[in-house]
Amino acid sequence: MLSTESTEQIMTFMDVRTQPVETETHEVLNQVPPLTGYNLFLTDKTLVEALRREGADWAEEQLAELGRLLGTEEVQRWGFDANENKPVLHTHDRYGNRRDEVIFHPAWHNLMRTSVEHRLHSLPWVEKRAGAQVTRAALMMLASQNEAGHTCPISMTFSAVAALRAEPEVAQEWEPRILSSEYDPSFRPVQEKSGALIGMAMTEKQGGSDVRANTTRAERIGHGLHATEFLITGHKWFCSAPMCDAFLVLAQTANGLSCFLLPRWTPTGEKNRFHIQRLKDKMGNRSNASSEVEFEGAWARLLGEEGRGVSTIIEMVHHTRLDCAIGAAAVMRQALVQAVHHAHHRKAFGKLLIDQPLMRNVLADLALESEAATLLMVRLARAFDRRETDPQERAFCRIATAISKFWLCKRSTMQVGEALECLGGNGYVEESIMPRLYREAPLNSIWEGSGNVICLDILRALSREPEAADALVEELRSVSGADKRLDGYVAEIGTSLESQLKQSLKSGTSEIEGQARRLAERFALALQAVQMVRQGPPPIAEAFIASRLGDDHGRTFGTLPAGTQLEAILERGRAL
Ligand SMILES: Cc1cc2nc3c(=O)[nH]c(=O)nc-3n(C[C@H](O)[C@H](O)[C@H](O)COP(=O)(O)OP(=O)(O)OC[C@H]3O[C@@H](n4cnc5c(N)ncnc54)[C@H](O)[C@@H]3O)c2cc1C
Repeated sequence: MLSTESTEQIMTFMDVRTQPVETETHEVLNQVPPLTGYNLFLTDKTLVEALRREGADWAEEQLAELGRLLGTEEVQRWGFDANENKPVLHTHDRYGNRRDEVIFHPAWHNLMRTSVEHRLHSLPWVEKRAGAQVTRAALMMLASQNEAGHTCPISMTFSAVAALRAEPEVAQEWEPRILSSEYDPSFRPVQEKSGALIGMAMTEKQGGSDVRANTTRAERIGHGLHATEFLITGHKWFCSAPMCDAFLVLAQTANGLSCFLLPRWTPTGEKNRFHIQRLKDKMGNRSNASSEVEFEGAWARLLGEEGRGVSTIIEMVHHTRLDCAIGAAAVMRQALVQAVHHAHHRKAFGKLLIDQPLMRNVLADLALESEAATLLMVRLARAFDRRETDPQERAFCRIATAISKFWLCKRSTMQVGEALECLGGNGYVEESIMPRLYREAPLNSIWEGSGNVICLDILRALSREPEAADALVEELRSVSGADKRLDGYVAEIGTSLESQLKQSLKSGTSEIEGQARRLAERFALALQAVQMVRQGPPPIAEAFIASRLGDDHGRTFGTLPAGTQLEAILERGRAL
């Protein structure tokens, strides 16, 4: 028992501890106000101009509404909450039965609901209007700036429609729910739901990029009218968004690698034998669940021709690659506006950072990169808009998707790293969005075909699809005469490609493979320069060509040549 004296002493001590500390707090000076309460669409001149150019002004109101919403403090908070509270896997219920459910934070559902209601997963499939793909690309670009993780299932759902249409009967059954604007996260048979999401499972432990090395097997169980029914046994090493309602899956049949639609529930209303083993502990993209799954005789339906699974699923992959390009452009834009905003408020050595000549060079260089990324992404989306009716655009789309996916994803990793540094130490802290952007950037480059694989795909398109090569050349020459440096650059690519092809043919080797990145890089820069000349404001086009195509460039950002009109470029990156 404590003496009265000791009790009093303790009470006095506790009183001191619980009283506010009577010290004069320092005033917080020279810190930057948060970038909030701005419209992500209306403040992006490049995107607004692109929409109008593509005849998609019908969508401006919707874009402005989503842009406003995403810039509010509340919706910005959803992005942080969804990433700070990672999804949780429940493999079994309390009685030991398999459950295979992933539980997400409410912020994730808010993000998903907002994107589904704005039809990011469906718009071009339901709106047959000019610029529908460009509009959807713009919507995706806005959503990805706020929170990129949730755009994974949105993108897969959108892209799956292209492949599902290989089987009109399946498309007819699934499309009404896939294209619905209602977000329904309940775990029930799809017939009981108001909306559905679709994922994709190709990658296996031993066969990632090399999908032909897949070992998952499919055994036919149906006959006659049910001949497309199979049971799938095997695993997938990466399967993102496993709470989707169905997955496009690759598996081997007696006739080779084939594509299947594997739902989470069988048509008779039982849980399919789709078992989630664990969730990946990822470097970024934390709001999204990426899992390892086992199929133990899971029911599935053949899509497309048996043995031609890659050709069937490639239609989906083509669209997800477009989304990687959009995601990369989004990361760059968000990194840029954060950096420019910071520089307008932070002083160092007696001046705002935005007035420091070297910082102006860095920021302008970042803005150029972002402008060029947006323009290339929009040009690609335009090709998607027209590919059904215009064979030239279809051919261009084939090769430009690979070029843009490779280049924009590579550049975004570098661009966001530099933008982060513009915020100094504050850019390295989780409370800013910069670490999240930095972690997200390399992912776009890895999935849907990693850098090398995409570059080899460019070579494949060049050698096997002459119409794709012709469409690319046509695009590169479309502004010829406008700038001598660009003309020279394009001519030089042609000459070097020709000599490399000859050399490879002569030596009978695939030496040209080792040069595929050099080639992809040059194509991409030339394509960006063409868009700049055609659509970019003249000082910006001039700076891009001088710094990217001419000899007058450095190896890091912030090396624009003297005389560059920085003001005009910087003005594009200001959000508030
Ligand atoms: C977060 C996350 C989520 C994912 N979600 C899904 C999903 O939902 N569904 C799904 O199917 N997959 C998913 N993936 C898997 C992803 O698509 C693969 O990781 C990717 O395709 C690369 O395959 P891999 O990991 O097996 O690497 P590998 O194929 O082993 O490639 C390793 C490296 O080698 C290079 N390389 C490969 N072949 C060649 C070559 N011939 N010449 C030169 N270089 C080469 C590649 O470019 C890469 O850099 C996800 C991955 C991540 C990280």
